[in-house]
Amino acid sequence: MSDIQVTKSSLPQFKEYVDEISDIWDTHWLTNMGSKHEKLTKMLEEYLHTPNVSLFTNGHLALENAIESFGLAGEVITTPFTFASTTHAIVRNGLIPVFCDIDPETFTLDADKLEQLITERTSAIIPVHVYGTVCDTEKIEHIAKKYNLKVIYDAAHAFGVEVKGKGIANFGDAAMFSFHATKVFNTIEGGCVTFQDTQLKERLSQLKNFGITGPESVEFIGGNAKMNEFQAAMGICNLHHLEEEISKREKIVKLYRESLEGIPGLKLMTLQEDVKPNYAYFPVVFEGEAWNRDDVVARLATQNVFVRKYFYPLVSDYACYRHLENSAETPNAKRIASQVITLPLYADLSLESADYICQLIQSMYTDQIKNKQERISNTP
Ligand SMILES: *Cc1c(COP(=O)(O)O)cnc(C)c1O
Repeated sequence: MSDIQVTKSSLPQFKEYVDEISDIWDTHWLTNMGSKHEKLTKMLEEYLHTPNVSLFTNGHLALENAIESFGLAGEVITTPFTFASTTHAIVRNGLIPVFCDIDPETFTLDADKLEQLITERTSAIIPVHVYGTVCDTEKIEHIAKKYNLKVIYDAAHAFGVEVKGKGIANFGDAAMFSFHATKVFNTIEGGCVTFQDTQLKERLSQLKNFGITGPESVEFIGGNAKMNEFQAAMGICNLHHLEEEISKREKIVKLYRESLEGIPGLKLMTLQEDVKPNYAYFPVVFEGEAWNRDDVVARLATQNVFVRKYFYPLVSDYACYRHLENSAETPNAKRIASQVITLPLYADLSLESADYICQLIQSMYTDQIKNKQERISNTP
């Protein structure tokens, strides 16, 4: 078997991309909200079933700008079981992150532990639809309303997910999606903010373009976070093939599920009722005593299968955040971070490869039993 990496970026056919970008050579319009940018915005508003999409050069700056657009102060409650970006976006806005534990079934922010972390300084909640699994939006938004807090979802993993036919972009006050090369839908690098209050559209446009408000006026201290035309063109092409990509992922996930479900000590993601998933990731938690996650990663690597300890370490254990004292204990997040891996998953992954990976894991389990029996029979 040749190497199997955890992910492989989707690309349209070469010719399709070249056709899409060819008129850029007529217009010489390379960036600053050109026609590709406008076209992709419209396509995404349709795909995500949401009226307000603002494109960004990457997901991280989309989140940073989304947070800034609400003019928040004080503390923000969030999850430590995420990518560095979520917390960095909070801190780079001058806000203090307060870590809340995660639910052991969904790995998303545990809404039952949320209220005890709210203080008079709390201004927002930033939960993550981690692996594309939907947060307990109802409970989170109920609490947010009670305490007058903003809710901004990090939906980097949840592109295209729907709950009872409602697009995931329509929950909370705003949501951020990442279109990074490794995500289900990519624009090479890229991202967007979706939001409920239409007035934010102008604010976000200004923030991502140096705070420029008119030909001779600059009213805000904005940065530069614009999506360029080549990124938007990649998005236009990739969006045409997204349904097909997702259905290929679905077949792989089905195979993983059927093959791994019966192996003792493994915990797979629970399927969510009423949710149309996007099959972004396939996490497996090695929670049985006989398993050691790091051994699994090492043994798979010897067979040229490269998985990720995604998310390990927890953000709250990073050198730059270890000093934070106002956060809750997060025992579930700590445990799952020490036991989880995500298996290779991308549209092009062959079912043979997925099957091979399952066989490797199954054989590790068989070895455990053998070792145990040997230990028992060797006991005097
Ligand atoms: C990918 C990702 C981001 C950042 O997105 P970029 O487009 O890479 O900047 C933020 N949050 C989470 C959870 C992510 O996985």
